[in-house]
Amino acid sequence: MATPQRAKLNGMGSSGATPGPPVGGPSAPGRQAGGTPRAALAELLAGNRRFVSGQPVHGHDVTAAAAASGDQQPYAVVLGCIDSRVPLEAIFDQTFGAICVIRTGGHVLDRAVCGSIEYVVGQLGVPLVMVLGHERCGAVGAAVDALRAGVRPAGSLAHLVDEIAPAVTEAGLDDPAVHPLAIRRHVRRTVRTLRHDDLLAGPVAAGGVAVVGGLYDLATGEVALLDPA
Ligand SMILES: [Zn+2]
Repeated sequence: MATPQRAKLNGMGSSGATPGPPVGGPSAPGRQAGGTPRAALAELLAGNRRFVSGQPVHGHDVTAAAAASGDQQPYAVVLGCIDSRVPLEAIFDQTFGAICVIRTGGHVLDRAVCGSIEYVVGQLGVPLVMVLGHERCGAVGAAVDALRAGVRPAGSLAHLVDEIAPAVTEAGLDDPAVHPLAIRRHVRRTVRTLRHDDLLAGPVAAGGVAVVGGLYDLATGEVALLDPA
């Protein structure tokens, strides 16, 4: 656990002394990448462009681990799916110490996930939360299947289905495109829930923290913002 920086929660990045957006080069990880939500998002998307263009600059070797072994100063937290085809540090070309990563099936929230994001934002002063869904998500597919069959799965898998089900219902269970539609709705619902989280709502309303939704294309490696500013 790093030094608490809760004072940054309010008005974070609004001092007027914040740096401009980075240009997308191999900048050092951490807060140097930008103290504002906008700069953090620019850096994250620049990393995805490096990945897509086949020109990543961050290798995951032990020298990178050593370089980041001091206090951590990540600039973003990404909540994604457990899908093995969506390794988050790789698709954003991020090195050690740059981003915090949380992955659950269908990026479903629970108290541990929300508490982790609250920690990263509140204690580490991170200004950007990205929720990243992806095409052909198996967790969303499982929710579609469960609703169509009218059978709630056993075990904790039921929690995933329960959390995704509202997006499937909104998309329309009988719609032939329910799966891709539900994926997008589920990302937006997750974003909305986080924006109203007890500890995140204030910083989000003040503009010091942003929660954004994205969608990953399995074939191209591209991340698209669902609702670009
Ligand atoms: Zn998935």
